[in-house]
Amino acid sequence: MQHKKNEIGHNPITLFTKGFPDVKVYINSVVNDGGELFFMIREGFESFLIIHSAKTDRYTGRKITTGGLKFVKCPLNHDNAEILREQFPFTKPVLVGKRNSYGLGDRLGNAGPAHLQSIGKTEFVPVLAQQSIRELERTGRTAEDVLDAASWSVFREGYRDGFGADGDHLKTTNDIDLMVKAGFTMFTIDPSEYVANEALGMSEEDLHGNFEKLPWDLLDEHSNEFLDRMVGASFVLEDGFELIPSKREILAGMVKYGRVISHTKKLADYLRDTHSGHPAELELSVDETDQPTTLFEHLLIASELKRLGVELVSLAPRFCGDFEKGIDFKGDLEEFKKEYRQHLAIAEKFGGYKLSIHSGSDKFSVYEAIGSLNAGAVHVKTAGTSYLEALRTVAEANPTLFRQILRFSITRFDEDKKSYHISGRPENIPDLKSLKNTELKNLLDHDDTRQVLHVSYGSVLHGQGEVSVAFKKQLMETLTKNEALYESNLLRHFERHLAPFDS
Ligand SMILES: [Zn+2]
Repeated sequence: MQHKKNEIGHNPITLFTKGFPDVKVYINSVVNDGGELFFMIREGFESFLIIHSAKTDRYTGRKITTGGLKFVKCPLNHDNAEILREQFPFTKPVLVGKRNSYGLGDRLGNAGPAHLQSIGKTEFVPVLAQQSIRELERTGRTAEDVLDAASWSVFREGYRDGFGADGDHLKTTNDIDLMVKAGFTMFTIDPSEYVANEALGMSEEDLHGNFEKLPWDLLDEHSNEFLDRMVGASFVLEDGFELIPSKREILAGMVKYGRVISHTKKLADYLRDTHSGHPAELELSVDETDQPTTLFEHLLIASELKRLGVELVSLAPRFCGDFEKGIDFKGDLEEFKKEYRQHLAIAEKFGGYKLSIHSGSDKFSVYEAIGSLNAGAVHVKTAGTSYLEALRTVAEANPTLFRQILRFSITRFDEDKKSYHISGRPENIPDLKSLKNTELKNLLDHDDTRQVLHVSYGSVLHGQGEVSVAFKKQLMETLTKNEALYESNLLRHFERHLAPFDS
């Protein structure tokens, strides 16, 4: 007993907390690097990195002495995050490759620790920093903010198994530059602006005309060579599954997706040539289109990209049924399952990349379906669902704020829903006046309310005027003050997301 006491008496962390009894030490963060001791704390609403016996002053911070020992107290800013990533490589994103992976978008920048606790129990590689250009604009965060939040989370949890960082829905070379500069390693190319949906309704003559006008120089082939190769070809896939496209299908498929292929090739080349030293992996997303991606369209995109030397780690088709934001799948699950297996067979034939499930939040029945197939590799993307768990926490811990945010979100709905695929209606939300404070959290299990809250995150977090500024501050403070509740809500919710794959 005497010995143990002595040991604790000399423990710098114990001495530190004696000097600052109101501080919470994140015990999983403690790491001794060649005699320098690092750990993270929270004091009030802010977190810090603490260094004991700092050998240099690489990190910027305030020097403090307590219990006779010297510490440096460093804010979690970008400069310190850069140094952290250099010193502790496990806080830097890695290439995930074709391993099963899970995208855990974190729009508030505070869900990472709970995400890691959830994923740590599974075989999935976490993609912690995952943000699209649209999300960055709407939340007013930079790509650096997003990656830094991920690195600090990893450090806080002492997570050493590697994580990915996904610049999502990138449309231009500028978008790529932005993500490379911040240190992202996964690049999701979104060529949706190049999809020619009108191809399906075109006459034979128009199809031929448009087909000839495709950028064949970029596609590195003559149009007649392409037709010679494709017309009459039969593609045999696993499970004896075979595709023999008609000439019309071939022409329409190319008119619809030819520029998607050439644009993807252009961005992939740009990434490789302009940022040649930067570790990078590519996903292609064609999920945000009106019509589901047919099997032949998928095959066409995959085979042509392969021919052009573009290697993908994952591809997101637009699946059948409805993948609305923040709620479960709507559609025929048996049909989804059948289609999924066929998409998988195509992915396996053209490089063995993962199928990527976009708008993956809350698609519990889809996870069951994929889990039950137990075949191929998958990447799932979630983001909005973590924001909704934050709001569930607010509903429990700060009902007044929750009521304000929901009322405000209802007023924003018509405007904010525009770029989203949803069917929720504000008029179906129960009258707030009739609900007791203790009943508010149940609204987070109500589809219409979920979608109204889901689409207005940008207005709440980064809208014009004082209202939003006040919301964001109060929201973050409520979550920090109720960190344990917030984490347990996230853990419970992600358990539901992850368990179905574990079959
Ligand atoms: Zn998407």
